[in-house]
Amino acid sequence: MRSDILDTDVFIAGGGPAGLATGIAIRQRGLRVVVADPAQPPIDKACGEGLMPNAVASLKELGVKLCSGDAIPFRGIRFINEELAAEGAFAGSYGLGIRRTSLHKTLVERAVEAEVQCLWGERVTRIARGEVWLGLRRVRCRWIVAADGQNSQLRKWAGLDRGRPQETRYGFRQHFRVAPCTDFVEVHWGSNCQIVVTPVRPDEVCLVATSRSPRMRLKEALLQFPEIAQRLRAVSPITKDLGAISALRVLHRVYRGHVALVGDASGSVDSLTGEGLGLAFRQAEALAEAIACDDLTRYQAAHRRINRLPEMMSRLLLALENRPRLRRRAIVALAKEPRLFERLLGAHTGAFSPLTIGFANILRLGRRLIAEPS
Ligand SMILES: Cc1cc2nc3c(=O)[nH]c(=O)nc-3n(C[C@H](O)[C@H](O)[C@H](O)COP(=O)(O)OP(=O)(O)OC[C@H]3O[C@@H](n4cnc5c(N)ncnc54)[C@H](O)[C@@H]3O)c2cc1C
Repeated sequence: MRSDILDTDVFIAGGGPAGLATGIAIRQRGLRVVVADPAQPPIDKACGEGLMPNAVASLKELGVKLCSGDAIPFRGIRFINEELAAEGAFAGSYGLGIRRTSLHKTLVERAVEAEVQCLWGERVTRIARGEVWLGLRRVRCRWIVAADGQNSQLRKWAGLDRGRPQETRYGFRQHFRVAPCTDFVEVHWGSNCQIVVTPVRPDEVCLVATSRSPRMRLKEALLQFPEIAQRLRAVSPITKDLGAISALRVLHRVYRGHVALVGDASGSVDSLTGEGLGLAFRQAEALAEAIACDDLTRYQAAHRRINRLPEMMSRLLLALENRPRLRRRAIVALAKEPRLFERLLGAHTGAFSPLTIGFANILRLGRRLIAEPS
């Protein structure tokens, strides 16, 4: 029977991307930190595996170096709806496609280098004021960070589960050994599902099908996309399909006392935004700063600021989901305004302020949405 006691400044439940990024950011501020996770690295998860430019920038600030063999750059996003297509490039920056396991491995290596104490194979079973239990092992700490994902148990224990009604969808992911046919991430819109294609290696793509149905696997979704099915003809998947919930969840609060939530545990955006990881990394920096200043109200304010735009983008994208006419109009309008699409992407990925899009441009886009024939 084990009942040894550990002492630390910050304890983090969950060693996924959010937990590890928070651990590294806290070490950069000189505090002691322990991370625990029931899984063993490298941890896999259903994900589109696209890092938007601001996520790439956050990783650099955390000192995380991604090897060129592990990740592949992409230039922007392309929306495809039947015969229509619109694409927007990232202004002066790039995103990265990277297998989830490669990203996790690199984050773990950086965490170890930064002297984050990682306890793999250990689940948090209880929290109390200033202490955390991993089965029989007790950890004394000043701060508790819940980075235990979408369905966070710690969030419930801390009484932070309240929020706006959530929008739930489902995503299934698989990899295929085939050279990417473009250096854009493609978002293909079907009648009741979408497929996102991300280049993740020079000879490999990641496909994710998202829909409102937990039964809509990639194989069924592909029936709506003959062009992608044709590209994958004679190519077998190299991974099993892996599913996860893609939810738009906005919580009222992200901290109580000395407990704070980060990453998907602190609320999430729809996976079509490609923003979950970028959000987690920016929140990690903000939380580490607030802890170093002994003031979690700063984190609450920063979290609202960080999440506002991606939440808005989630609502916009979800509005297109079941409105085929609006979707066609939007794609036609964006195809006719590639510079504006770039500015919208730039605002979405934090390259510049949404204010720089300009009222006149928004008005022009609005007119096109109303006037374009569907
Ligand atoms: C279908 C889909 C596609 C997506 N595509 C993209 C994309 O292309 N780009 C992007 O940026 N984002 C994408 N996302 C979002 C992204 O995957 C998440 O935002 C990201 O995984 C959040 O990381 P996290 O560390 O908060 O949570 P997780 O990755 O879920 O990690 C949580 C960790 O907590 C651990 N844990 C659970 N319970 C306990 C406990 N009691 N004690 C200790 N540890 C515990 C788990 O084992 C897990 O390792 C996608 C999401 C989905 C569903």
